[in-house]
Amino acid sequence: MAREPILQRDGQSRPEGGAPPEREADSDRARRIAVHEEDDRALRPQRMDEMVGQRAVYERLAIAVDASRKRAETLGHILFDGPPGLGKTTFATCIPRDLGVPLQIASGAALAAPKDLVPYLTNAEEGSVLFIDEIHRVPKAVEEFLYPAMEDFRIDITLGEGVNARTLNMRLRPFTLIGATTRTGLLSAPLRDRFVMREHLDFYALVELAEIVRRSAAKLNVAIDDEAADEIAVRSRGTPRIANNRLRWVRDYVTARADGSIDRQLAMDALDMQGVDVLGLDRQDRKYLSTIYQPFGGGPVGVEAVAHTMNIPTDTLIDEVEPFLLRSELVIRTPRGRKLTDKAYEHLGVERPLNAPGPASEEDGGQPKLFE
Ligand code: ADP
Repeated sequence: MAREPILQRDGQSRPEGGAPPEREADSDRARRIAVHEEDDRALRPQRMDEMVGQRAVYERLAIAVDASRKRAETLGHILFDGPPGLGKTTFATCIPRDLGVPLQIASGAALAAPKDLVPYLTNAEEGSVLFIDEIHRVPKAVEEFLYPAMEDFRIDITLGEGVNARTLNMRLRPFTLIGATTRTGLLSAPLRDRFVMREHLDFYALVELAEIVRRSAAKLNVAIDDEAADEIAVRSRGTPRIANNRLRWVRDYVTARADGSIDRQLAMDALDMQGVDVLGLDRQDRKYLSTIYQPFGGGPVGVEAVAHTMNIPTDTLIDEVEPFLLRSELVIRTPRGRKLTDKAYEHLGVERPLNAPGPASEEDGGQPKLFE
């Protein structure tokens, strides 16, 4: 009989859906996150076949999961990469459910030293899944500690210091590591190579997003017509998480301002009010475009300079803002920096500055590229 997965977050064993740890309950922020996580959980597909889109990735994973189940063998390690909100965590939580094995969840940012990883590795049951989110954030020492764990299911623990130091070799039960990253470029080649499957998640097509919006609306018990679902899909930056967030806002809006069911006009009014435009860009996206325009004359300009001017971390621009704008061809990346395209000038409703370089000149080898 398949066992239900036990979810453990950051070493604190608690069942999925269980109450958050008490000390967190004191802080408003933690409460907000908990509510958000609760909401997120309600909308998150539970099985891979409930997931919409990413068909090629789904087919490959379904085969691997099926084969692993039939042969009663541990599934090979899997690495997911792609911008935030596209389903990396969802795949990572659906796979163990489909396999009927336990799941542990760790965050790369919280694994500061090998000792932080040891409990996860020693607790891992045979065939279970260990999911490390933001795996590009683990320091080099943790990464090297992972190599023998992934390859031979053993770890080398050093006890004592200096001349008294001894190395203890410990065997682990075979497990599956699932890593997720927004930037494969930051992963070292030896770590990347230890993943048997590497899957890139791309932005979703409009029909897929509209389907996600309809399914989420049903789960949230709110009536929505097809045109409204299409409108929210168009304004969701190709990203399921954003589609769900926009839908929640539109639901609040229609509850307050109308009879509670969503039509296209109400969806448009709600999203306009939130500053989401017809391409789905929010204020931060437009600020990024207008910063490149003014003071940087349309570019090329380095991303650090744009981040400094906007007063936000460079990583936020690279991970969250740029991928969709590059994909939408509003901006291009060149060896000399970011540059606006004619489409961006048109969207901002401004003229291309006279001295701004034209579209993708040969000189700077302007090629749109999604990831670092
Ligand atoms: P990531 O880990 O890539 O940042 P998540 O897996 O957390 O993204 O996805 C964010 C939310 O988007 C999930 O809670 C889920 O509700 C929704 N979602 C993501 N991918 C899909 C999908 N393929 N089908 C339906 N909903 C999805």
